[in-house]
Amino acid sequence: MIEFDGVTKVYPDGTTAVDGLDLRIPDNAITVFVGPSGCGKTTSLRMINRMVDATSGTIRIDGDDITSLDVVKLRRGIGYVIQAAGLFRHRTVIDNVATVPVLSGTSRREARDRARELLDRVGLDPHLGDRYPAQLSGGQQQRVGVARALAADPPVMLMDEPFSAVDAVVRHSLQQEFLRLQQDLGKTIVLVTHDIDEAIKLGDQVAVFAEGGRLAQVAAPDELLAAPADDFVAQLVGRDRGFRGLSFEPASDVEVEPVDTSVDGMTLELDGAGRPLGWKNGPATLPTEGTWTESDTLRTVTDLVILSPAGAAVRVDDDGRADGLVRHRVLAEHIRQRQLVRAGDVGRGDA
Ligand code: ADP
Ligand code: MG
Repeated sequence: MIEFDGVTKVYPDGTTAVDGLDLRIPDNAITVFVGPSGCGKTTSLRMINRMVDATSGTIRIDGDDITSLDVVKLRRGIGYVIQAAGLFRHRTVIDNVATVPVLSGTSRREARDRARELLDRVGLDPHLGDRYPAQLSGGQQQRVGVARALAADPPVMLMDEPFSAVDAVVRHSLQQEFLRLQQDLGKTIVLVTHDIDEAIKLGDQVAVFAEGGRLAQVAAPDELLAAPADDFVAQLVGRDRGFRGLSFEPASDVEVEPVDTSVDGMTLELDGAGRPLGWKNGPATLPTEGTWTESDTLRTVTDLVILSPAGAAVRVDDDGRADGLVRHRVLAEHIRQRQLVRAGDVGRGDA
Protein backbone atom coordinates (compact mmCIF):
# COMPACT_ATOMS: atom_id res chain seq x y z
CA MET A 1 0.00 0.00 0.00
CA ILE A 2 1.08 3.54 -0.75
CA GLU A 3 0.00 6.12 1.81
CA PHE A 4 -0.01 9.91 1.57
CA ASP A 5 -0.22 11.58 4.94
CA GLY A 6 -0.73 15.35 4.98
CA VAL A 7 1.47 15.72 1.90
CA THR A 8 2.01 19.23 0.57
CA LYS A 9 4.17 20.43 -2.29
CA VAL A 10 5.05 24.07 -2.68
CA TYR A 11 7.33 24.78 -5.65
CA PRO A 12 10.17 27.29 -5.19
CA ASP A 13 8.14 30.00 -6.96
CA GLY A 14 5.48 29.71 -4.26
CA THR A 15 2.94 27.63 -6.21
CA THR A 16 1.09 25.21 -3.96
CA ALA A 17 0.73 22.23 -6.28
CA VAL A 18 -0.54 19.74 -3.70
CA ASP A 19 -2.25 20.77 -0.50
CA GLY A 20 -2.41 18.40 2.48
CA LEU A 21 -3.03 15.21 0.56
CA ASP A 22 -4.28 12.24 2.58
CA LEU A 23 -4.78 9.15 0.46
CA ARG A 24 -4.48 5.35 0.64
CA ILE A 25 -3.55 3.54 -2.56
CA PRO A 26 -4.33 -0.17 -2.24
CA ASP A 27 -2.15 -2.93 -3.72
CA ASN A 28 -3.03 -4.85 -6.86
CA ALA A 29 -5.59 -2.31 -8.01
CA ILE A 30 -5.80 0.72 -10.28
CA THR A 31 -6.08 4.09 -8.58
CA VAL A 32 -6.78 6.98 -10.95
CA PHE A 33 -5.93 10.62 -10.25
CA VAL A 34 -8.36 12.75 -12.26
CA GLY A 35 -9.07 16.46 -12.45
CA PRO A 36 -8.52 19.52 -14.60
CA SER A 37 -5.06 20.56 -15.70
CA GLY A 38 -2.83 22.16 -13.06
CA CYS A 39 -4.45 20.65 -9.99
CA GLY A 40 -1.43 18.65 -8.84
CA LYS A 41 -1.94 15.18 -10.32
CA THR A 42 1.48 14.84 -11.93
CA THR A 43 3.19 16.36 -8.90
CA SER A 44 1.45 13.85 -6.62
CA LEU A 45 2.42 10.99 -8.91
CA ARG A 46 6.05 12.06 -9.15
CA MET A 47 6.35 12.39 -5.40
CA ILE A 48 5.80 8.61 -5.15
CA ASN A 49 9.10 7.82 -6.90
CA ARG A 50 10.77 10.96 -5.55
CA MET A 51 11.17 12.67 -8.88
CA VAL A 52 9.60 15.47 -6.85
CA ASP A 53 10.18 15.75 -3.12
CA ALA A 54 7.32 16.70 -0.83
CA THR A 55 7.61 19.96 1.09
CA SER A 56 5.88 18.46 4.11
CA GLY A 57 3.99 15.34 5.09
CA THR A 58 4.90 11.68 4.66
CA ILE A 59 4.60 9.15 1.86
CA ARG A 60 4.94 5.49 2.83
CA ILE A 61 5.24 2.39 0.68
CA ASP A 62 4.41 -0.79 2.57
CA GLY A 63 4.92 1.14 5.77
CA ASP A 64 8.35 2.58 4.91
CA ASP A 65 8.75 6.35 4.70
CA ILE A 66 10.10 6.78 1.15
CA THR A 67 12.62 9.40 2.29
CA SER A 68 14.31 6.65 4.35
CA LEU A 69 14.76 4.41 1.28
CA ASP A 70 17.56 4.40 -1.26
CA VAL A 71 16.23 6.29 -4.31
CA VAL A 72 17.69 3.83 -6.81
CA LYS A 73 16.17 0.87 -4.99
CA LEU A 74 12.87 2.70 -4.61
CA ARG A 75 12.68 3.42 -8.34
CA ARG A 76 13.63 -0.13 -9.27
CA GLY A 77 10.31 -1.26 -7.83
CA ILE A 78 8.32 1.42 -9.65
CA GLY A 79 7.63 1.45 -13.39
CA TYR A 80 6.95 4.84 -14.96
CA VAL A 81 5.00 5.47 -18.16
CA ILE A 82 4.42 8.95 -19.56
CA GLN A 83 2.33 10.53 -22.27
CA ALA A 84 3.73 10.01 -25.78
CA ALA A 85 5.71 7.06 -24.39
CA GLY A 86 9.01 8.94 -23.87
CA LEU A 87 10.99 6.32 -25.79
CA PHE A 88 14.69 6.50 -26.63
CA ARG A 89 14.59 7.64 -30.24
CA HIS A 90 17.93 6.16 -31.26
CA ARG A 91 17.27 2.70 -29.92
CA THR A 92 15.19 0.00 -31.54
CA VAL A 93 11.92 -0.99 -29.96
CA ILE A 94 13.46 -4.19 -28.54
CA ASP A 95 16.34 -2.29 -27.00
CA ASN A 96 13.98 0.30 -25.56
CA VAL A 97 12.18 -2.48 -23.71
CA ALA A 98 15.40 -4.33 -22.77
CA THR A 99 17.29 -1.27 -21.47
CA VAL A 100 16.39 -1.41 -17.79
CA PRO A 101 16.86 -5.19 -17.34
CA VAL A 102 20.28 -4.91 -19.03
CA LEU A 103 21.21 -2.01 -16.74
CA SER A 104 20.27 -4.09 -13.73
CA GLY A 105 22.41 -7.05 -14.80
CA THR A 106 20.32 -9.29 -17.07
CA SER A 107 22.26 -10.53 -20.10
CA ARG A 108 21.44 -8.70 -23.30
CA ARG A 109 20.23 -11.87 -24.94
CA GLU A 110 17.90 -12.80 -22.10
CA ALA A 111 16.60 -9.22 -21.89
CA ARG A 112 15.82 -9.22 -25.62
CA ASP A 113 14.00 -12.53 -25.46
CA ARG A 114 11.92 -11.22 -22.60
CA ALA A 115 11.34 -7.95 -24.47
CA ARG A 116 9.89 -9.90 -27.37
CA GLU A 117 7.56 -11.69 -24.99
CA LEU A 118 6.46 -8.39 -23.47
CA LEU A 119 5.75 -6.85 -26.87
CA ASP A 120 3.47 -9.76 -27.59
CA ARG A 121 1.87 -9.29 -24.18
CA VAL A 122 0.96 -5.66 -24.86
CA GLY A 123 -0.48 -6.57 -28.23
CA LEU A 124 2.40 -5.61 -30.51
CA ASP A 125 3.69 -7.81 -33.32
CA PRO A 126 7.19 -8.81 -32.11
CA HIS A 127 8.39 -8.17 -35.68
CA LEU A 128 8.12 -4.46 -34.92
CA GLY A 129 10.95 -4.92 -32.43
CA ASP A 130 13.63 -3.99 -34.94
CA ARG A 131 12.04 -0.67 -35.83
CA TYR A 132 12.80 2.70 -34.30
CA PRO A 133 10.09 4.53 -32.32
CA ALA A 134 9.54 7.08 -35.10
CA GLN A 135 8.55 4.22 -37.40
CA LEU A 136 5.58 3.31 -35.21
CA SER A 137 2.13 4.85 -34.82
CA GLY A 138 1.32 6.77 -31.63
CA GLY A 139 -0.69 3.85 -30.27
CA GLN A 140 2.13 1.41 -30.99
CA GLN A 141 4.65 3.69 -29.28
CA GLN A 142 2.41 3.84 -26.26
CA ARG A 143 2.35 0.04 -26.10
CA VAL A 144 6.14 -0.01 -26.24
CA GLY A 145 6.16 2.45 -23.33
CA VAL A 146 3.98 0.07 -21.31
CA ALA A 147 6.15 -2.95 -22.26
CA ARG A 148 9.24 -1.04 -21.22
CA ALA A 149 7.77 -0.18 -17.82
CA LEU A 150 6.77 -3.83 -17.34
CA ALA A 151 10.22 -5.14 -18.30
CA ALA A 152 11.64 -4.76 -14.81
CA ASP A 153 8.49 -6.42 -13.46
CA PRO A 154 7.92 -3.70 -10.85
CA PRO A 155 5.12 -4.21 -8.33
CA VAL A 156 4.09 -0.56 -8.74
CA MET A 157 3.40 1.31 -11.99
CA LEU A 158 2.98 5.07 -12.28
CA MET A 159 1.30 6.14 -15.50
CA ASP A 160 0.95 9.81 -16.42
CA GLU A 161 -1.71 10.34 -19.10
CA PRO A 162 -0.51 7.20 -20.90
CA PHE A 163 -3.36 7.18 -23.42
CA SER A 164 -3.93 10.90 -23.93
CA ALA A 165 -1.82 11.43 -27.03
CA VAL A 166 -3.69 8.99 -29.27
CA ASP A 167 -7.01 9.27 -31.08
CA ALA A 168 -10.26 8.07 -29.51
CA VAL A 169 -10.41 4.74 -31.33
CA VAL A 170 -6.83 3.77 -30.49
CA ARG A 171 -7.34 5.00 -26.94
CA HIS A 172 -10.34 2.72 -26.52
CA SER A 173 -8.43 -0.36 -27.65
CA LEU A 174 -5.38 0.52 -25.53
CA GLN A 175 -7.64 0.90 -22.51
CA GLN A 176 -9.29 -2.47 -23.13
CA GLU A 177 -5.96 -4.23 -23.48
CA PHE A 178 -4.55 -2.43 -20.48
CA LEU A 179 -7.46 -3.73 -18.37
CA ARG A 180 -6.96 -7.26 -19.70
CA LEU A 181 -3.26 -7.09 -18.94
CA GLN A 182 -3.93 -5.84 -15.43
CA GLN A 183 -6.29 -8.77 -14.82
CA ASP A 184 -3.30 -11.08 -15.32
CA LEU A 185 -0.64 -8.96 -13.69
CA GLY A 186 -2.47 -7.44 -10.73
CA LYS A 187 0.00 -4.55 -10.36
CA THR A 188 -0.44 -1.63 -8.03
CA ILE A 189 -1.13 1.11 -10.54
CA VAL A 190 -1.52 4.85 -10.16
CA LEU A 191 -2.76 6.42 -13.38
CA VAL A 192 -3.20 10.13 -14.07
CA THR A 193 -5.77 11.42 -16.54
CA HIS A 194 -7.78 14.59 -17.14
CA ASP A 195 -10.52 12.50 -18.76
CA ILE A 196 -13.30 11.56 -16.35
CA ASP A 197 -14.57 8.85 -18.72
CA GLU A 198 -11.17 7.21 -18.71
CA ALA A 199 -11.01 7.48 -14.91
CA ILE A 200 -14.36 5.80 -14.51
CA LYS A 201 -13.53 3.08 -16.99
CA LEU A 202 -10.11 2.18 -15.64
CA GLY A 203 -10.18 2.98 -11.94
CA ASP A 204 -10.89 0.59 -9.11
CA GLN A 205 -10.57 3.75 -7.03
CA VAL A 206 -10.78 7.30 -8.36
CA ALA A 207 -9.22 10.31 -6.61
CA VAL A 208 -10.67 13.58 -7.87
CA PHE A 209 -8.29 16.55 -7.62
CA ALA A 210 -9.54 20.12 -7.61
CA GLU A 211 -7.86 23.45 -8.12
CA GLY A 212 -5.11 24.27 -5.66
CA GLY A 213 -4.08 20.64 -5.27
CA ARG A 214 -7.03 19.82 -3.05
CA LEU A 215 -8.47 16.30 -2.99
CA ALA A 216 -12.20 16.63 -3.63
CA GLN A 217 -13.27 12.98 -3.36
CA VAL A 218 -11.91 9.43 -3.34
CA ALA A 219 -14.37 6.71 -4.25
CA ALA A 220 -15.07 3.71 -6.44
CA PRO A 221 -16.32 4.86 -9.87
CA ASP A 222 -19.93 3.80 -9.40
CA GLU A 223 -20.06 5.64 -6.07
CA LEU A 224 -18.56 8.74 -7.67
CA LEU A 225 -21.36 8.77 -10.23
CA ALA A 226 -24.09 7.96 -7.73
CA ALA A 227 -22.96 10.29 -4.93
CA PRO A 228 -20.62 13.10 -5.94
CA ALA A 229 -19.24 14.72 -2.77
CA ASP A 230 -19.70 18.32 -3.91
CA ASP A 231 -20.67 20.56 -6.83
CA PHE A 232 -17.19 20.39 -8.30
CA VAL A 233 -17.26 16.60 -8.53
CA ALA A 234 -20.88 16.62 -9.72
CA GLN A 235 -19.93 18.97 -12.53
CA LEU A 236 -16.89 16.90 -13.45
CA VAL A 237 -18.84 13.66 -13.70
CA GLY A 238 -21.30 15.58 -15.81
CA ARG A 239 -24.96 15.77 -16.65
CA ASP A 240 -25.11 12.31 -18.17
CA ARG A 241 -23.80 10.54 -15.09
CA GLY A 242 -27.02 8.49 -14.91
CA PHE A 243 -26.35 7.16 -18.38
CA ARG A 244 -22.69 6.56 -17.57
CA GLY A 245 -23.66 4.73 -14.42
CA LEU A 246 -25.24 2.10 -16.66
CA SER A 247 -21.73 0.96 -17.53
CA PHE A 248 -21.58 -0.69 -14.10
CA GLU A 249 -24.79 -2.65 -14.66
CA PRO A 250 -24.50 -6.01 -16.40
CA ALA A 251 -26.71 -6.70 -19.40
CA SER A 252 -26.80 -10.42 -18.65
CA ASP A 253 -30.17 -10.35 -16.90
CA VAL A 254 -32.02 -8.28 -19.49
CA GLU A 255 -34.94 -10.32 -20.77
CA VAL A 256 -34.92 -10.72 -24.53
CA GLU A 257 -37.63 -11.51 -27.06
CA PRO A 258 -37.29 -14.05 -29.90
CA VAL A 259 -35.38 -12.81 -32.93
CA ASP A 260 -38.38 -13.24 -35.24
CA THR A 261 -40.44 -10.71 -33.27
CA SER A 262 -41.65 -7.89 -35.49
CA VAL A 263 -40.75 -4.47 -34.09
CA ASP A 264 -42.87 -1.58 -35.38
CA GLY A 265 -43.29 -3.40 -38.67
CA MET A 266 -39.60 -4.23 -39.04
CA THR A 267 -38.18 -7.72 -38.79
CA LEU A 268 -34.60 -8.84 -38.36
CA GLU A 269 -33.01 -10.33 -41.46
CA LEU A 270 -30.52 -13.13 -40.83
CA ASP A 271 -27.95 -14.87 -42.99
CA GLY A 272 -27.82 -18.68 -43.41
CA ALA A 273 -25.91 -19.09 -40.15
CA GLY A 274 -28.35 -16.92 -38.19
CA ARG A 275 -26.17 -13.81 -38.02
CA PRO A 276 -28.01 -10.49 -38.26
CA LEU A 277 -27.88 -8.70 -41.63
CA GLY A 278 -30.16 -5.78 -40.81
CA TRP A 279 -33.72 -4.65 -40.20
CA LYS A 280 -36.09 -5.41 -43.04
CA ASN A 281 -38.29 -2.38 -43.52
CA GLY A 282 -40.48 -2.93 -46.61
CA PRO A 283 -38.10 -3.31 -49.54
CA ALA A 284 -35.18 -1.73 -47.67
CA THR A 285 -32.72 -3.32 -45.21
CA LEU A 286 -31.49 -0.93 -42.52
CA PRO A 287 -28.28 -1.55 -40.54
CA THR A 288 -28.57 -2.95 -36.99
CA GLU A 289 -25.88 -0.44 -35.87
CA GLY A 290 -24.20 -3.13 -33.79
CA THR A 291 -25.00 -6.03 -31.50
CA TRP A 292 -24.45 -6.95 -27.86
CA THR A 293 -23.60 -10.06 -25.89
CA GLU A 294 -24.34 -11.26 -22.36
CA SER A 295 -21.03 -9.88 -21.11
CA ASP A 296 -21.84 -6.29 -22.15
CA THR A 297 -23.26 -3.58 -19.91
CA LEU A 298 -26.60 -1.79 -19.87
CA ARG A 299 -24.82 1.26 -21.24
CA THR A 300 -23.92 -0.62 -24.42
CA VAL A 301 -27.42 -2.03 -24.81
CA THR A 302 -29.01 1.38 -24.22
CA ASP A 303 -26.72 2.98 -26.77
CA LEU A 304 -27.67 0.32 -29.33
CA VAL A 305 -31.37 0.78 -28.68
CA ILE A 306 -30.94 4.52 -29.27
CA LEU A 307 -29.01 3.93 -32.49
CA SER A 308 -31.14 1.12 -33.89
CA PRO A 309 -33.60 2.10 -36.65
CA ALA A 310 -36.06 -0.33 -35.06
CA GLY A 311 -35.44 0.91 -31.53
CA ALA A 312 -34.36 -2.61 -30.62
CA ALA A 313 -30.90 -4.02 -29.84
CA VAL A 314 -29.90 -7.43 -31.15
CA ARG A 315 -28.13 -9.85 -28.82
CA VAL A 316 -25.75 -12.39 -30.36
CA ASP A 317 -24.04 -15.52 -29.02
CA ASP A 318 -20.30 -16.26 -29.12
CA ASP A 319 -20.55 -17.22 -32.79
CA GLY A 320 -22.27 -14.00 -33.75
CA ARG A 321 -25.70 -15.62 -34.23
CA ALA A 322 -28.67 -13.51 -33.19
CA ASP A 323 -30.31 -15.03 -30.11
CA GLY A 324 -32.60 -12.29 -28.85
CA LEU A 325 -33.92 -8.72 -29.10
CA VAL A 326 -34.60 -6.06 -26.55
CA ARG A 327 -36.90 -3.14 -27.34
CA HIS A 328 -36.64 0.29 -25.82
CA ARG A 329 -39.74 -0.12 -23.68
CA VAL A 330 -38.54 -3.40 -22.20
CA LEU A 331 -35.09 -1.97 -21.59
CA ALA A 332 -36.49 1.18 -19.99
CA GLU A 333 -38.62 -0.96 -17.67
CA HIS A 334 -35.60 -3.11 -16.80
CA ILE A 335 -33.57 -0.03 -15.88
CA ARG A 336 -36.49 1.33 -13.88
CA GLN A 337 -36.71 -1.90 -11.89
CA ARG A 338 -32.99 -1.76 -11.15
CA GLN A 339 -33.35 1.79 -9.87
CA LEU A 340 -36.13 0.66 -7.56
CA VAL A 341 -34.02 -2.21 -6.25
CA ARG A 342 -31.19 0.23 -5.65
CA ALA A 343 -33.45 2.63 -3.83
CA GLY A 344 -34.66 -0.23 -1.68
CA ASP A 345 -38.32 0.33 -2.64
CA VAL A 346 -38.94 -3.26 -3.60
CA GLY A 347 -37.90 -6.45 -1.86
CA ARG A 348 -35.13 -8.73 -2.97
CA GLY A 349 -35.80 -10.90 -5.98
CA ASP A 350 -38.72 -8.77 -7.18
CA ALA A 351 -36.87 -7.22 -10.10
P1 ADP B 1 -1.54 18.42 -13.29
O1 ADP B 1 -0.71 17.19 -13.54
O2 ADP B 1 -2.77 18.15 -12.50
O3 ADP B 1 -1.85 19.17 -14.54
P2 ADP B 1 0.84 19.52 -12.02
O4 ADP B 1 1.16 18.66 -10.86
O5 ADP B 1 1.66 19.35 -13.24
O6 ADP B 1 -0.72 19.42 -12.33
O7 ADP B 1 0.96 21.04 -11.59
C1 ADP B 1 0.33 21.55 -10.43
C2 ADP B 1 0.68 23.03 -10.28
O8 ADP B 1 2.06 23.16 -10.02
C3 ADP B 1 0.41 23.87 -11.51
O9 ADP B 1 0.01 25.14 -11.09
C4 ADP B 1 1.75 23.93 -12.20
O10 ADP B 1 1.88 25.10 -12.96
C5 ADP B 1 2.68 23.94 -11.01
N1 ADP B 1 3.99 23.33 -11.31
C6 ADP B 1 4.23 22.09 -11.81
N2 ADP B 1 5.55 21.85 -11.92
C7 ADP B 1 6.17 22.99 -11.48
C8 ADP B 1 7.53 23.39 -11.33
N3 ADP B 1 8.53 22.56 -11.63
N4 ADP B 1 7.78 24.63 -10.84
C9 ADP B 1 6.77 25.46 -10.50
N5 ADP B 1 5.47 25.14 -10.60
C10 ADP B 1 5.17 23.94 -11.09
MG1 MG C 1 -0.06 16.41 -15.41
